[in-house]
Amino acid sequence: MSLKDMFKKRTLSPQEIKQAERVRKAKDTLLEFQAPEGLFQKCNCCGKPVYNEDLIENDYVCPVCGNYFRIRPKTRIAMVLDKDTFEEWDAKMDTSDPLNFPGYKNKLERQRSVTNLDEAVITGKGKILGKDVVIAVMGADFMMGSMGEVVGEKITRAVERATQMRLPIIIFTCSGGARMQEGIVSLMQMAKTSAALKRH
Ligand SMILES: [Zn+2]
Repeated sequence: MSLKDMFKKRTLSPQEIKQAERVRKAKDTLLEFQAPEGLFQKCNCCGKPVYNEDLIENDYVCPVCGNYFRIRPKTRIAMVLDKDTFEEWDAKMDTSDPLNFPGYKNKLERQRSVTNLDEAVITGKGKILGKDVVIAVMGADFMMGSMGEVVGEKITRAVERATQMRLPIIIFTCSGGARMQEGIVSLMQMAKTSAALKRH
């Protein structure tokens, strides 16, 4: 195909139009399917309803198409650590809202009640197959897992304590980046956490 033809506007043949219409209809039918809450979940990728128990059994990977479901921090901790060994660190830490960003404090409150998390990361200590580890798990549901001063501080403290205790640290990161509501303070967290990790 010549370069000129590549940018040519192409008209669809009647068969292609019919095929596109069939695909669109099939997609609509799948979208209309509402799985009853609690028992099934709909896969975002293949659109098939997945039985909750099958999903848990399969470590939150769709048994039909292999798509990964979102894993919330508390679930992740339960999946990774030995049962009842998790001890949370720095649970209640509040941001100083350094920019006095309009509506930020209210948004945080709302996020806390919706996600049942205090911040976008949970840190602490636990055991894997009987061995002590320090763990930090981020939650994408809480302000897109963005890193403000609390997230940065919690991760840094966890890393520093791991260094002191001579323990390995495992961090499950999923973050939308710096928390814009905290401006430059959120960007500073990057240097702080990296420095702590280097020392570790
Ligand atoms: Zn699927």
